[in-house]
Formats: sequence, structure tokens, C-alpha cells
Amino acid sequence: MSDIIKLLPDHVANQIAAGEVVQRPSSVVKELLENAIDAGATTIKLLIKEAGKVLIQVIDNGKGLSETDARMAFERHATSKINQAEDLFKIQSKGFRGEALASIAAVAHVELKTKQENEETGTCITIEGSKVISQEVCVTPKGTVLSVKNLFFNIPARRNFLKSDAVETRHIIDEFHRVALAHPEISFTMLHNGNEVFRLPASNQRQRIVNVFGIKTNEKLVPVEEETDVVKIKGFVGKPEFAKRTRGEQFFFVNDRFIKSPYLNHAVSAAFEGLLNDKVHPRYFLYLSVDPQRIDINIHPTKTEIKFDDEHALYAMLRSTIKHSLGQFNVAPVLDFDRDAGMEVPYQYKNKHVIAPVIEVDHTFNPFAEDNGGVKVNVSSKTSTGFKHDKREPTWDALYSGIQAEKQEQQTEASTVTFETEEVNSSIFTKNTAPAPEATVFQLQRKFIVTTVKNGMLVIDQHRAHTRILYEELLKNITVSTGASQQLLFPLSLPFSGNEIGLIVELKPMLEQTGFLFGEIANEQVEVKGIPTMLTEGEVPILLEKLLSDFQQEVPDAGFEQTDLLARSLADSMAVRNGTLLAQEEQLQLVNRLFACKETLTTPSNKQIFITLTAEQLERKF
Ligand code: ADP
Ligand code: MG
Repeated sequence: MSDIIKLLPDHVANQIAAGEVVQRPSSVVKELLENAIDAGATTIKLLIKEAGKVLIQVIDNGKGLSETDARMAFERHATSKINQAEDLFKIQSKGFRGEALASIAAVAHVELKTKQENEETGTCITIEGSKVISQEVCVTPKGTVLSVKNLFFNIPARRNFLKSDAVETRHIIDEFHRVALAHPEISFTMLHNGNEVFRLPASNQRQRIVNVFGIKTNEKLVPVEEETDVVKIKGFVGKPEFAKRTRGEQFFFVNDRFIKSPYLNHAVSAAFEGLLNDKVHPRYFLYLSVDPQRIDINIHPTKTEIKFDDEHALYAMLRSTIKHSLGQFNVAPVLDFDRDAGMEVPYQYKNKHVIAPVIEVDHTFNPFAEDNGGVKVNVSSKTSTGFKHDKREPTWDALYSGIQAEKQEQQTEASTVTFETEEVNSSIFTKNTAPAPEATVFQLQRKFIVTTVKNGMLVIDQHRAHTRILYEELLKNITVSTGASQQLLFPLSLPFSGNEIGLIVELKPMLEQTGFLFGEIANEQVEVKGIPTMLTEGEVPILLEKLLSDFQQEVPDAGFEQTDLLARSLADSMAVRNGTLLAQEEQLQLVNRLFACKETLTTPSNKQIFITLTAEQLERKF
């Protein structure tokens, strides 16, 4: 028999290897940004066209490449960052595998323009699918411009596998965030289809976080700092009250490299124990510095997972450091000397002199004066202590009004569950699980609705049932008929970050179908003029925040996936909460409307809505 094993030609090997490093446009963005950082750039510009499918370009002012190196850079395992095997254990750079450029050039049209500081001219190379098309001398400023066009032009299957522009753009922005947050000392700009998406000047960590996620983030951060022999921890965690329902802003950086670590994530959650309910996740931006010898970053081609030598010690330290910071923050305001004073002082107070508070003393006051009537002390606006006193009566009524307001809030919460009377298709009652027409209902623990069916009973989770009902209604609103809207007397103006604004604009048409009405959507502000009738004004900010974080989390494709996620997220926010008392009539409506739904068994997120207990099963219990 003849031999059949042969070595793969280079370009095929490169294409296969590319699959590991280059999964989508955002992988290219990550590699190019990291190369620019490794080259010592202080200014990095990222240009994207059509979600990176048409163009990804990174312009840096780093040290550039010599003519020979420019060509060498595209060879597999060509790197300037490792000389000998031992170097692998003291890595300070982002790259070191020498794979990125070779992999990218195997699956795209690549152009490299580069010049070193002291050279007169630079080098320009074009490569298409691993083939060098041209190499010339050219005029270009110091640094490197790397352009990647027509990604996956030679692998149609990969190209078709790419998601919508919105999804791919979000992946790119995620990578951009990670790199930009890891390097606040570098100035970054990002443009998409010619529009500036981010302009981040060189700054400190806190300012960088605020510049990326919006000004409202500033007040939500609690500084964390600790230094031991094993690790240096710096950064911020979000105050517990601003925790999000979904995992969004959770960042670990180890030696300035973004990493994913479920284990360390657990350490942070453990530090928040007792401060958060289990439905929300803490936000954090944590920068760890460890001796490169004590970690292994070589275990994954994209280098987002790393192994620590003393993981357990790290876990314990992280947990206690964060706990300590949160404790400090709860008892006393933390002094943060690192802060940029300009960010903290309200504009109108800048450069103003401090006026010392004046204590007024009533010199004429004489406690022994006759007209005090012996025992009766004259409590005028100036008391014997001499402190000026507010004339107002003790605000007892305000105390009560608080309680009333709370009561009212509870009531409105219940009344937002507007159960329209909707005739229930009687044929549904013939289904086994559907309640009998003469069914009685009652509420258990303000959480379950219990009702009788032909041969037993149903225990229905009220929140889940209502979620299902609203979900189907919202889907109908978005796709068929517009939902009812109520105009707000005073439009709400809500703050959002630039990134979130982009999402709101994208979702606006759908949100309007559900009854939202938007006014101006501008720089970090969204004006809400009308809301769906099933909502109250107070619920809007939380609902929108959850919606955005759901979208950042799941990143759905355009089309039905998007509609579905929107309806799911809104339904969950709007549905009656557990713990809400429902009137008998409302309970009955809830049950009837549930069984008028197309799908009655599970919520849109596939959670069971009710359980049945048959008479037989009950029998067996006796
Ligand atoms: P790695 O980063 O793992 O070394 P790459 O394939 O990403 O491998 O890059 C190969 C080499 O090309 C790098 O080691 C570096 O010397 C050089 N290089 C890549 N991008 C740049 C850049 N923007 N500026 C200067 N040199 C670069
Ligand atoms: Mg690299």
C-alpha cells in the first residue's frame, strides 16, 4: 500500500490554525489592539466598517517594524516577544505566540504600513490569504497601520456564520472595553462607519471606567486596594444597591490582561454575601498584579483563561479585601486620595471660598428671667444652646405620610396588574389542566394561586404566570397591534451611557410598539414621554436598565430573537412580584388569562408555571 500521510501546505495549516485565534471580527480587533499596546503606543485608533466585516483598522504610534521584520511578522510562530523557552514564564507582553498576524493574513486581505522612529521611509505590505501580493517602500508616519479587509473572504462557511452587524459590533465593543479598561494610560478612539463611538483620553483607572460606562457610574464605585506578597489588588466594586440583574460589568485584569475566571468571580460574590439577593450580580473592575512566574497564560489560544499557582490564597485574599472595602463603605465614607478632584467638586463650587458656619448666640437670653414662669423655658427660634433652630414643627406628619406613601405604593403595585376582562375561550377548559369553570381560587403566601381542576388542584406561581401572559401580549403588540400608551405629564429624563444609548436607539421602534414614547435621545440622556399603560412611572428606570443589560448579556440576532428577548425582558419586569397581595377577582383573572395563552406550561424562559396535584396523589398521602 502506498503512503498517504503528507504535510499540509502552509496556507492550509494557517487557515486551520486561524480558526483558533480568529473566530469573528472582534477576535481580530483584540489581537491588533494588543499588538499596538505591545509596540508601546500611547495613542491607538480603531476604525471599523460594517461591524468589521468590511474593514478593521488599527492605527498606532508605537515603535513600528523594520523592513525585514514587517515581512517576518506574518510567519507562523514569528514573534519578537520570546527568545527562549524560559521567557514563557516571565511574560509581560500581551502577545507571545506569534500566531495572530499569520492567522489573520490567512483568512483576509491585510495591509501593513509601518515605520520606525529614526527611519526616513516605511514599509507597506499587502497579503491576501497568506499570499504576499506586494511589498514596497512607502511614506507613512511613525508607528503602524494595520488594515484587515474582507474577513473570511476565502471561507464562506465562516462568513455566513457571522451574526448580524449589531451582534458583531457589540462583540467588538466588548473587546474594546476590555483593552481600554486595562490601559487607562493609553488614549483610545473608536470609530464605526465614520462615527465616533468612543474617545477616551489617557487618564486614571476610575476616570477610564467613567468615560467608558458613563458619568453616572462614578458615584457607584467603591475603591478596593490591598497589597500582599502574592498579589496586589486594585480597582473598584459596584455599590450593592447598583448591582445588576444580569452579569454585565464584571472585569478581572491580571497583569493588565482581561481574563475570565469563574473561580475568582465566586470570591467576589462571596464578599457580597448578605448584601445582595441571589438575583443580582455585583459589578467589579479588579486589577490584579502577580509575579508572571506564578501564573500560566499559555493554556488558551486567546489567552483569556489563566492558571494561578496559589489560587486558594488568591480567592481568600480577594474575598476579604472586598469585604473590608464594602464594610468601610457602609460605616464611613471612604477617603479616596486617588480621585481627580475636578471630578468630585460640583462645578459651581469650584474656586469658591469656604465660609465657616456661624453659630448665633442669643446674648439676651436669661434662663432665670421672671417671665420664664419658673419652670417654663422659653423655646424661641434661638435655644439656650445658641444654635439656630429650624422653626418648623417636628415633622411627625411627614413620618406618617411616609407610611402612607408606602401603602399607596403597595396599592399601586397591585393596581398595575390591570386585568382586562377577556373572555376565555371555553374550549380551553376541556384541557385536563385547565381549571374547572366553577373553580375557586385562593392565594398562598402572596406567591402562589391555588385553584381546583377536575380531578385535583393546581398551584400556580403568580409571577411566572403573569410573565407568560404579558410576554404573549407584548409579542402581539410588537408584531401585530400597537399597545396602549399613557402620556406622562412630566417627561422622564434618564441618564444612560453612550453605549446604552446606541442600544436604545436600536430598540426604539420595538419599544414604541409596546406603548413607550420617546422624546429627545441625546448625549447620555433619554427623554421618555409616554409609557405602556401596564407600567407605572417609577418602574421605568429599572425596567429599561434590566432590558439593556439583558441585551448586553444575550446579544440576540436581529429579527425574532430580538423581539423575543425584548418581550421576555419587559414581561419579567412588568409581571406582578411575589409578595404582592392579589384580590380574589385578580387571582381569577390571572388564572383565566394564563389558560387563554398559547403556551401555558412554562414561562418564556422555560420555567415551570404551575404544578398539579391530583386527587390520587393526595389520596396516597393519607
Ligand atoms: P505576537 O504578538 O504573539 O508576537 P503577532 O502575530 O501578533 O504575534 O505579531 C507578530 C510580531 O509582529 C510581533 O511579535 C511584533 O514584533 C510585530 N508586530 C505586530 N503588530 C505590531 C505593531 N502594531 N507594531 C509593531 N510591531 C508589531
Ligand atoms: Mg500579537
